[in-house]
Amino acid sequence: EKYVYTFGGGVAEGNKSMKDLLGGKGANLAEMSSIGLPIPPGFTISAEVCKYYNEHDEQWQDGVEKQVQQGIHQLEELMDLTFGDAADPLLVSVRSGAAKSMPGMMDTVLNLGLNDQSVKGLARKTDNERFAYDCYRRFIDMFGCVVMGIDHDRFEEVIQKLKDEEGAELDTDLGVEELKELVDRYKAVYRKSTGYMFPQNPNEQLHYAINAVFGSWSSKRAKTYRKINRITGLLGTAVNVQAMVYGNMGDDCATGVCFTRNPADGTNELYGEFLINAQGEDVVAGIRTPQNISKLKEVMPKSYDELQEVTEKLEEHYQDMQDIEFTIQQGELFILQTRNGKRTGTAAIKIADDMVNEGLIDKEGAVLNLVNPGHLDQLLHPQLSQSDVDEKEIIGEGLPASPGAAVGKVVFSSEQAEKEHAQDHPVILVRIETSPEDVGGMSAAEGILTSRGGMTSHAAVVARGWGKPCVAGCDDIVINYEAQSFTNGEVTIKAGDWISIDGARGLVIKGQKPVEEPDFGDDFHTFMGWVDSLRDMKVRTNADTPEDAIRARKFGAQGIGLARTEHMFFGEERIKAMRRMIMAESDGERRKALKVLLPYQKQDFIQIFEAMEGLPVTVRLLDPPLHEFLPDDEEEIKALADDLQISVRDLNRKIRLLKEFNPMLGHRGCRLGITYPEITEMQTRAILEAAVHLKKEGKKVQPEIMIPLVGTAEEFIHQHEIVDHTAADVFALENEVVDYKVGTMIEIPRAAIVADKIAEEAEFFSFGTNDLTQMTYGYSRDDAGKFLETYMKEGILENDPFQTLDEEGVGRLVEIATNKGRKVQPKLKVGICGEHGGDPSSVRFCYNLGLNYVSCSPYRVPVARLAAAQARL
Ligand code: ADP
Ligand code: MG
Ligand code: MG
Repeated sequence: EKYVYTFGGGVAEGNKSMKDLLGGKGANLAEMSSIGLPIPPGFTISAEVCKYYNEHDEQWQDGVEKQVQQGIHQLEELMDLTFGDAADPLLVSVRSGAAKSMPGMMDTVLNLGLNDQSVKGLARKTDNERFAYDCYRRFIDMFGCVVMGIDHDRFEEVIQKLKDEEGAELDTDLGVEELKELVDRYKAVYRKSTGYMFPQNPNEQLHYAINAVFGSWSSKRAKTYRKINRITGLLGTAVNVQAMVYGNMGDDCATGVCFTRNPADGTNELYGEFLINAQGEDVVAGIRTPQNISKLKEVMPKSYDELQEVTEKLEEHYQDMQDIEFTIQQGELFILQTRNGKRTGTAAIKIADDMVNEGLIDKEGAVLNLVNPGHLDQLLHPQLSQSDVDEKEIIGEGLPASPGAAVGKVVFSSEQAEKEHAQDHPVILVRIETSPEDVGGMSAAEGILTSRGGMTSHAAVVARGWGKPCVAGCDDIVINYEAQSFTNGEVTIKAGDWISIDGARGLVIKGQKPVEEPDFGDDFHTFMGWVDSLRDMKVRTNADTPEDAIRARKFGAQGIGLARTEHMFFGEERIKAMRRMIMAESDGERRKALKVLLPYQKQDFIQIFEAMEGLPVTVRLLDPPLHEFLPDDEEEIKALADDLQISVRDLNRKIRLLKEFNPMLGHRGCRLGITYPEITEMQTRAILEAAVHLKKEGKKVQPEIMIPLVGTAEEFIHQHEIVDHTAADVFALENEVVDYKVGTMIEIPRAAIVADKIAEEAEFFSFGTNDLTQMTYGYSRDDAGKFLETYMKEGILENDPFQTLDEEGVGRLVEIATNKGRKVQPKLKVGICGEHGGDPSSVRFCYNLGLNYVSCSPYRVPVARLAAAQARL
């Protein structure tokens, strides 16, 4: 069996489609090798070995050992060097890499193969003693930390002390003798911390390092990251063993990271940072301040041109923006990694538009691959309003690391952020810099502010990936964890104080600032135009008010899939009439109260219909249990008693009678309309009078009346008849006719099972998947929070079924009902109006079932449009 895949010299055994086995890094190294890009050769050990290692007491499968040895031999031949040789050593890096990118989760060891002898050989061979010992001290440090778990600070203290002794400011100020001294001191740290001598045998070093990478897969921080990002189903991490190239041989060497386009706004320009005479993580570690990539053009023009050429090739090949790592060794460029770059929503849209215009990708490809629902979601997020920011309130300016506005109270630790978040308090996590240990707190915070680090720092990368506002590297402020405060000159902000951050402009502002709606540019409309041309499932919105309807139209809704009418019973005058209606002792009294409500409702419908400009509007008749409309505080009860001219005692008794043990399974939905037909009549009248009114003005209207909570065909027939009678009455009185439809919600499991019977009478179905989920699982929507967390932690549920449609159970009911309904009425209009209508994976599911539309909250409409197009492609 094959466990080791070699790459290098223009060929490779793997390719980019083999991420599951080779990890993203390994698969792309193989791919880059095959297309002739300059990468150092090496080999990848499959993630299957990691899985085996973690499940079999840290053992490898039979045969892996031999294949690794063969890999090393092949590498030796390609490089014409011998692994760890005393005179002229081949050195390697040992790098992790799983199928999904997990930034900073697993550690890399560089310069492996060095020992007390080969360091001398390297020095002689390169004629550069300083370089050789710089590599060696880095190796001892990395090996010690990554492989043996020594605290990095132990090494940091030692180097800082030496720098102080020598009056050196930067690592690069240390000379040969100091570095030799440092190597000795590092070895002492190693011995003291582990009880062992630093291992001198290269093969032993390699084994330890490979196992450390495998072991890191099950480290706590890796597990946390996977949990937060819901990464499941992976084998483990692959290990890449790769010949070293050196960015730290002198001033004609460098190492850097760069995006092929600007990941913040999408501009087509190289975007990144580099450091002269440096190695590996120096760029992101914040030890020295890296230079902007544009500077590379000045200091190493040839390498810059090469880099540009390589990036163009990469974009053409991958048809996407790339995030690459490179090293320049004595003027020669090497690429060490490439992957599709994370980007903001704004950048995603611009890059998609540009790449289509540049002919790099077609519209289908751009819609399918270059923008994801999360990007759109981000774009729709509120921004700080420009005019509201007073210069004087700005307490810091940092890098615009991830756009969007966030407002919250300052916290200085991840634990605190998580604690406050659990109590629904919005917080901004303020850290000097973040590390993988902070991901829990970062996820809990509304936004992130760091005082150190660049656009590619941990905070920036993670925040952009999540679409969370972030201001990074704000060195105007000085953070003091001990004092739980940060300062900028005179200004001091303490833990618990409110601040606002603007991730698009890099601003930190004192206080709680108002936020405003985003404003879409031309790029957005162009892209969404392609989306719409490529989808055939409709997207409607759930909107109860004219304002919501107007917003949803702006977001591209093609109708209303659910207009809940309950809010129409609130408001001062209305609620009074409503309460009188509920308390009515006779039909006559009830009718009188409803008559008061009629004009209000009619007016509401006129506005909603108008806002939808002739698109279909599904109105759901009254649904919630009546007691929800009753007063619960003493003052209100007294007022109502006065209004009804009864005693408070009598009123309280009546209220008690209305209370139910299981209101969500109680007197609600069509059960109300059946016990009090006057309610259905009044609502039908309001809807159709509004429709007639608009038709008489020459406007188009498509009302759809929806009966909620139907479980039997008889219930539906009962209500349908009332609607039809009332309609006939309205049309006769008005001397005008409007086309209307009557349909039902399918939200009770029984209704799904007998959908064929209901379909004989109904003109449309709309799946109310919130209630359907509640009743199928038997989980109360309002109480499930108490145990769902635990269920997901324990792996009993993979997702919250109220967010992502449970395809296996609830989805099956949707499928059964759709098929049964369509058997009776092949053209039956079927849609979904639960929360799930805006969840991309649920949208795909609905598309595959052949639903006519999904309906979701206004803010999710663009997301659903994209998800519908992607489902089709
Ligand atoms: P991460 O997954 O954390 O990005 P990498 O495996 O990419 O870790 O390694 C981090 C850095 O180490 C790389 O960006 C590169 O600068 C350096 N590096 C890794 N392998 C080599 C190598 N063979 N030669 C030179 N530098 C290397
Ligand atoms: Mg990397
Ligand atoms: Mg419902």
